[in-house]
Amino acid sequence: MSEINSLSDITSNGLCIGCGICESIVGKENIKISMTEKGRLEPQEISPLSDENFDKIKKVCPGVIVEGLPKNEINQDSKFDLIWGYYHSLFYSWSTDTKIRFQSSTGGLLNGLSLYLLESNIVDFILHTGTDPLKPMRSISKYSYDKNELLSSGSCSRYGPTSPLDRFHEALNLNQPFAFVGKPCDISAIRQLSKIDEKVNKFCKYLLTLVCGGFGEFTKSQEFIESFNVKEKELEIFRYRGNGNPGKMYIKTDSGKEYDKDYNSFWGEESTWRVPFRCKICPDAIGESADIAALDTWPGGSPKGEDEGFNAAIARTQKGLELLNSAVDSGYIKKGDNLSIDEINDFQPHQVKKKKAVFARHCGMKKNDLPTIKTRGLRIKKLYDMNDKKFNINEEEGIIKRVDKI
Ligand SMILES: Cc1cc2nc3c(=O)[nH]c(=O)nc-3n(C[C@H](O)[C@H](O)[C@H](O)COP(=O)(O)OP(=O)(O)OC[C@H]3O[C@@H](n4cnc5c(N)ncnc54)[C@H](O)[C@@H]3O)c2cc1C
Ligand code: SF4
Ligand code: SF4
Repeated sequence: MSEINSLSDITSNGLCIGCGICESIVGKENIKISMTEKGRLEPQEISPLSDENFDKIKKVCPGVIVEGLPKNEINQDSKFDLIWGYYHSLFYSWSTDTKIRFQSSTGGLLNGLSLYLLESNIVDFILHTGTDPLKPMRSISKYSYDKNELLSSGSCSRYGPTSPLDRFHEALNLNQPFAFVGKPCDISAIRQLSKIDEKVNKFCKYLLTLVCGGFGEFTKSQEFIESFNVKEKELEIFRYRGNGNPGKMYIKTDSGKEYDKDYNSFWGEESTWRVPFRCKICPDAIGESADIAALDTWPGGSPKGEDEGFNAAIARTQKGLELLNSAVDSGYIKKGDNLSIDEINDFQPHQVKKKKAVFARHCGMKKNDLPTIKTRGLRIKKLYDMNDKKFNINEEEGIIKRVDKI
């Protein structure tokens, strides 16, 4: 069965990442995203989808299709790398606001750019992801209209299931300019939607993303609190990182008990990450179609300790570069040294490996008669052809072994 003919073909084959755009397209009365027993956010059909609605979903769902940067965003100044795609510039950067820099995931580049967009009236609000104030182990999509809303919402890396696009059409229908901040798979869904809905480019002015190694299923967070004998309903604060770089995984209960764990010891061995299957076959985890992608800059790919927070920024579009430059000129963002592709490779070895491996993983799925993601403009076949044959075989066989965990 290699065709996708229904929503359950997407979810049952491990292609769904829970982005929420399908719910946003057809409304909560038709599709509801909810937490599954396995600890994933997945859509459920409340009433049977019409062919027309399912067709719209198939055109945008990041479990069905993912493409690179639109051609009209590439110009004569664009640089290109086979792994990292198109970009205009690469440099260190972080928020000049010490509170934002401290609270945010790395150096607060994304929150700092969001603040600049709001305070210079370029957009009216930011659509992004924050902590659910009532259930802090869970995340919600949210609109932030000012600095207070941006900073009081737990808006830093949420390494659990999220549906950042569940209110995307509601945001479009406000008819106000806004910016979206989310993961590369979320950005992909928006780019696809922009092909069939002209309101997207009219109102969603910027697409900002983070380079993304995937997240842990909800059961990973549950195990974390249970290891301290804490129940979800007792939680007052649940933070994955931030308050330093990377900051600790931290919880506080309503009776004031506090527990934490170092970033490295929480993530530990890759086999314990419990990353959704969709992340393992992700053809674009580096935000190829965003205006700007932000990333961590730890040599070798993992933190050796705490630091003040130094993001790297990849400006992918002319518009993204202009935004970064004007945020720097206006004093919101500090620009550090320029970076080379070799340095970015050193900061993100897992991304380099995944980009090379992903086509073989898709081949493994096809050989197992499973549907996989259609891709265009992401160079994954070209990279596959350049790989060592043994590497490709290992990746293909490796994904077949994981299929039973979907
Ligand atoms: C799932 C996940 C995987 C990651 N993998 C990598 C990686 O492989 N390499 C790497 O360098 N960095 C990774 N990061 C972290 C990344 O370092 C930082 O988020 C990035 O550098 C931006 O830092 P910042 O300080 O500018 O972010 P901030 O200023 O803290 O802004 C973060 C923004 O991301 C949004 N956000 C947070 N979590 C989510 C989510 N789950 N879904 C959608 N939007 C979200 C927030 O709403 C906020 O707008 C990952 C983060 C996440 C959430
Ligand atoms: S990936 Fe997004 S659009 Fe696709 S089925 Fe899952 S929630 Fe819906
Ligand atoms: S790895 Fe890919 S699919 Fe998984 S959350 Fe990140 S961008 Fe989305």
